[in-house]
Amino acid sequence: MFKVPPIPAERLPGLLRAMPKAELHIHIEGSLEPEMIFALAQRNGVPLPYASVEELRRAYAFTDLQSFLDIYYAGASVLLHEQDFYDMARAYLARAAMDNVAHAEIFFDPQTHTARGVHIETVINGLHRACADARSSHGLSASLILCFLRHLSEEDALATLEQALPLLDRIVGVGLDSSERGHPPEKFARVFERCRALGLHVVAHAGEEGPPAYIWSALDVLQAERIDHGVQAVHDPALMRRLADERIPLTVCPLSNLKLCVFPRLADHNLLQLLEAGLAVTVNSDDPAYFGGYVNDNFTQLFAAVPALTARHAYQLAWNSFEASFAAEADKRAWHHRLKECFEQFTEND
Ligand SMILES: [Zn+2]
Repeated sequence: MFKVPPIPAERLPGLLRAMPKAELHIHIEGSLEPEMIFALAQRNGVPLPYASVEELRRAYAFTDLQSFLDIYYAGASVLLHEQDFYDMARAYLARAAMDNVAHAEIFFDPQTHTARGVHIETVINGLHRACADARSSHGLSASLILCFLRHLSEEDALATLEQALPLLDRIVGVGLDSSERGHPPEKFARVFERCRALGLHVVAHAGEEGPPAYIWSALDVLQAERIDHGVQAVHDPALMRRLADERIPLTVCPLSNLKLCVFPRLADHNLLQLLEAGLAVTVNSDDPAYFGGYVNDNFTQLFAAVPALTARHAYQLAWNSFEASFAAEADKRAWHHRLKECFEQFTEND
């Protein structure tokens, strides 16, 4: 790998913002800013239980995953038409391009919408059109990952997959999200087996609040290719060895972990420990509108809170993000090259 020259700490935030990166853990419904929630509510005549943008923003004081999910689902209720899904994804992609995201793999939760009577084609077509447009407007490549809500039944997930069958060319994979505790990955063994047989990539949230056992079953039962979050792996040395040996990527989301009280302070975050143990860690925003920051905010705030993180770690994290993506090998090589160039330019300008 490219030998990263030392870069003074005061120049690190600029480098973190400038470096090309992939975002692999972003829930598109979690990118809905309060202003857009209010605009869509008005456009669609959907009543909201909050009087103003400010009041909604004030409600974003979470104590755990569930307290967040309750507000998150209320926010998503304003999405009804294909244009709404398009506008939401377009806003995220424009924001991601500003953060020098070169590639995004975007989660969406169809069950959140189909349960309200919105057709799955409405959801997927709106999101897909925004992804296609991002390539021409921003030179950003984007793909979609359909997530099953784990607090619902496997039958519901199977029915969702059935509805998505005619649209499978518009998604690259499936994931598993929502309330983790009490909903182990093995609950979804059959639907994931079916998805793998259909040639879809599979990922799963595991070890965010849940125990390392959930990461084991995401790997062994679901055969997940990436683990979303996975920060609880540190409590299981055998699991840490396996994740390192097999280079299974973890899509870590520092500000989400802070806001949902997985770690009391950003300074206590274990990302450096995971990285130093040889795990293929990446940095992501999860639900940026709700957790106070997009991907660059996650990088700069974490690096500011953990001074032991240096330019070498930044390079590794960005390199991992491309490597861990489901993009074509030629694209990964091109992004890795751009990353190296960015770091070289940064040192030349010293
Ligand atoms: Zn997530």
